[in-house]
Amino acid sequence: MEPKDIFDRIDGSREDIIRDVSKLVSIPGIGPANDGTGESERADWIEGYLRDLDFFDSVERMDVQDEDVLRSNVIALKKGKKKGTVWLIAHMDTVHPGDPLLWNHPPFEAFVEGDKIYGLGSEDNGQGLIAALYSVRFIGDVELQGYSIGLAFVADEETGSNYGIIHLLDKGVFSKDDFILVPDWGSPNGEFIDISEKNILWLKITVEGIQVHGSTPDKGLNAYRIGARFLTDLVDGLYERYNDKDPIFRPTGSTFEPTRRSVTTDNINVIPGRDEFWMDCRILPGYDLEDIISYVKDVAEERSKRTGAKISVDVVQRLASGPSSSTGTYEYDSLKRSISEITGRTVKEAGIGGGTCANFFRKKGINAYAWSSEGDSLHKPNEYVLISNIMTDAKVFFRLFNELCINNH
Ligand SMILES: [Zn+2]
Repeated sequence: MEPKDIFDRIDGSREDIIRDVSKLVSIPGIGPANDGTGESERADWIEGYLRDLDFFDSVERMDVQDEDVLRSNVIALKKGKKKGTVWLIAHMDTVHPGDPLLWNHPPFEAFVEGDKIYGLGSEDNGQGLIAALYSVRFIGDVELQGYSIGLAFVADEETGSNYGIIHLLDKGVFSKDDFILVPDWGSPNGEFIDISEKNILWLKITVEGIQVHGSTPDKGLNAYRIGARFLTDLVDGLYERYNDKDPIFRPTGSTFEPTRRSVTTDNINVIPGRDEFWMDCRILPGYDLEDIISYVKDVAEERSKRTGAKISVDVVQRLASGPSSSTGTYEYDSLKRSISEITGRTVKEAGIGGGTCANFFRKKGINAYAWSSEGDSLHKPNEYVLISNIMTDAKVFFRLFNELCINNH
């Protein structure tokens, strides 16, 4: 079949797409950390779907036990003549629906309105998942002259990816010859491809002083006052010291922002003896997180000595980012061309604040890119997906497979 015919068939799939999204939404895929039973039932449905397509050489399950719950991954592969695989990676798990009263329609029952299908997980990651299925659905019986085609439907993206992508990487499913596309991040009109992500560093700062009555500050040590000055000095110091800019990121530099703060005291007439605050730092790749942590600790130590308060620094979360994915390859150009051709837009590279599962690949030296048509309702009540976005993404993915896998360059 000619690409044009396949695009037409995708465009003509509205009713089928509605049926498939509705089925997906009806099967809960919530992980145990969010009080769910995992995504195995979804995996069963997807596995059956992939087998029915009769397109892949193999459809495999790679399940793994997570306490009492089975976490599921489904891997479908059609072999090409060339070494390496073009992969689409979509996650099957969803977040918890939250307060059911905030949903206008039940979260596990799809509701269609014009171009929108409402339901939990319909966009995240239903859009990428269903688009991946439709990208190969109409290809039919063909011998791949180029790379292999791989679809991986993975577990546990919402709570760390340990039983999903990380597990599959550990098992050697992917290689450095592969091209990875993760349709789990989007920008307006699909104009940007995520090629890089910032490091994430979350810190907790604790200041211990001495609590006393508000009228006798000289007898105590105001932890709030010391903490406030320490906070502004530290943040200024971090922004000054780590001030590199990279124009592909927005914002272009690293960010060091105080976010959460504990109540110091409930009483206006008490000088607080304890102050705690947290920081969310998004740091450009290229900076060493260890260096930043030791700078923060040095400043804390110096300030402790000067004030007599005890200031301690705890790392709550650190997620080092891998190197940016290459933009100088034929395969990357093919992705750009595929997006431009289907959307009619000029496509540019972007770095984001983090973090998609593309980063796990980058850390292993595998080029990975995150792209999809942007939706705007993920992790919100009344989540919905645009049918037109699923069609656009499916066409882009097919266009990519057609150039790199069905044909050879
Ligand atoms: Zn997602």
